[in-house]
Amino acid sequence: MTKEPINARGTFTPLGVSRSSERVSRAVGESLRHYAVMEDLKHQADLALKAWSGAEAGTLVHCTAAAITLSVAACMTGTDKALVRCLPLPTGGPSKVVLPAGHNVNYGHPVRQAIRLSGATPLMVGEADACSEGDLASALKAPDICALLLVHSRLVEGVTPSLAAMISLAKDQNVPVILDGAAQDFKVAELVALDPDLLLLSGQKYLASPTAGIVVGKAEMVAAVAAQESGIGRGMKASKEAIAGVLAAIEERQALDLADWAQDKAAKLAAFLERANLLPGVTAYAVADPTNLPFERACLRLPCEAAPIIAALKASNPAIWVMEDRASRGEILLESVMLSVAEEDLILQRLAVLLRDC
Ligand SMILES: *Cc1c(COP(=O)(O)O)cnc(C)c1O
Repeated sequence: MTKEPINARGTFTPLGVSRSSERVSRAVGESLRHYAVMEDLKHQADLALKAWSGAEAGTLVHCTAAAITLSVAACMTGTDKALVRCLPLPTGGPSKVVLPAGHNVNYGHPVRQAIRLSGATPLMVGEADACSEGDLASALKAPDICALLLVHSRLVEGVTPSLAAMISLAKDQNVPVILDGAAQDFKVAELVALDPDLLLLSGQKYLASPTAGIVVGKAEMVAAVAAQESGIGRGMKASKEAIAGVLAAIEERQALDLADWAQDKAAKLAAFLERANLLPGVTAYAVADPTNLPFERACLRLPCEAAPIIAALKASNPAIWVMEDRASRGEILLESVMLSVAEEDLILQRLAVLLRDC
């Protein structure tokens, strides 16, 4: 039988993204056994999102990919019911989305397709490797547009001005800004403080709720996203069990002492690195997250090529998945913070066997 995979690859969709706590899974299970007045449940979620994020308002949709489509739709229609019904046909309103070319990332599909699904047209600015302040400033002068920006992550390519600078350029032109911060739930307050019109986060990444797209931001814009549920958003709605799970996950996050948590994770990583350094020929060290998430990852420099080891780890039972970004440098990168110690043991044991043949 194939065993549960060991996921040292981070919040990776093909591996089921994250594991929820007992409490979150109980909340989801309970909600499945009962009816609920959806309007009341949604209202409760809206209030919880608002309190947690510090934004004016919040709402839930199916996932962040859906949140991108529906946020663009919101810019096109506002809360106008007739316009909401019109999409994805042209509404006569804003229908173009400016984004730095390097922000057209692929998290399973390209961002530009999530934009097009609403009926809007993406306008990629600059080159994949660079988008300057000048490029962006002139693109933002076009009429009938909104802007989509990604929080810098491992996916984002190229050099752009800082998020704060790009948001301020858009504000200068009165262009609404949608900020995709899918895996950045730890930084929600910091991102809300940048004052985007809409901020999008995935519930199922580090927050470890069921799959859900969290949308927070300006009340009017959030209402326009929620309004899409009687239009193209019908197929992208949040389920009652997802809402119940997000509510429980937010309560847990609010109760979490992040400094303590980060300290525990740092100690856990240090212990793992110490053991990894005992593997023959391996140099193990910590690597900070490029987006300032509050934990580091383990980088193992191998005494041989990384690609065959990565393939052999994946072919093990249980399958072990690691990050492949540094394979060409002979290194494997592991996001081990969410692993149990038993899983860390299995990884080290398996590596010890594989490295014998190096
Ligand atoms: C994961 C991710 C998405 C997609 O999120 P889903 O909730 O899986 O739809 C979108 N944008 C970025 C930057 C991501 O990391």
